[in-house]
Amino acid sequence: MSETASNATIDAPKPAVRHVMGISGGKDSSALAIYMRNRIPEMEYFFCDTGSELPETYEYLDRLETALGKPIARLNNDRDFDHWLWVYQGALPSPQMRWCTKTLKIKPLEEWIGDAETLSYVAIRADEHRDGYISHKPNIHAVYPFKEDGIDKEGVMRILDEAGVGLPKYYDWRTRSGCYFCFFQRKAEWVGLADRHPDLFEKAVAYEDKVNYEAQAMEGRQYTWTAKETLRELIGRREEIMEKHKESMEKAASRRKNLPLIDVLGDALDDDDDTAACMVCTL
Ligand code: SF4
Repeated sequence: MSETASNATIDAPKPAVRHVMGISGGKDSSALAIYMRNRIPEMEYFFCDTGSELPETYEYLDRLETALGKPIARLNNDRDFDHWLWVYQGALPSPQMRWCTKTLKIKPLEEWIGDAETLSYVAIRADEHRDGYISHKPNIHAVYPFKEDGIDKEGVMRILDEAGVGLPKYYDWRTRSGCYFCFFQRKAEWVGLADRHPDLFEKAVAYEDKVNYEAQAMEGRQYTWTAKETLRELIGRREEIMEKHKESMEKAASRRKNLPLIDVLGDALDDDDDTAACMVCTL
């Protein structure tokens, strides 16, 4: 662990310094929350709630709160997704224009933290080679306990297992937390959404219909959640998508024996589509 974080564990922290940890509803941040619960008893846990998360995520947060023995602060922007969609003139967010993360995740977090000196604990594992963006505010300093303590994916699974928390249920069909309409979803995950949550899939379709009706009336623009096709077109290719996904799952399972489902699914979806995940929303 870093010098700063190690000292914070041993010595009483200065009251002016806040220790905060964002929970995304994914396995890594959940495991880190459990890992830190006795190391930093004054840790403040938060979840940036876009209001469009999967039901499985909300259910998992409740389970996690029980394991942590303290509440996870739910941070909401005072304006919802529909308001910001209107502000951005009906342009659905995309990897190139990720206004959703900025307005619905980062902004509420920075307002909640204010100007206090803050250590923000980030759940990047020792076996990952990536950075986690939290905030560029000068009073917020990132700490990476898993990286510094050599905790890898196996370690994460062990922590969740030993705490009796397990994995969120959406891992049966989707590898990432985040909004039900997240544009980082792979094609097979959209089909999974249509099967598991048809109401949410229809809501995502309705957004596409609405923005495209308005955009075409104005300038002939078209916005889609997923690359190169509308969700109606995507679901029309369901069999083709799932056939390819099945092949990828079989290939992933045959690479290594006894691979847990979550890893098979992750490998298969990575084969299917290597679009980068949303770090802020899924860590
Ligand atoms: S989960 Fe996806 S849609 Fe939701 S805020 Fe993050 S990037 Fe945007």
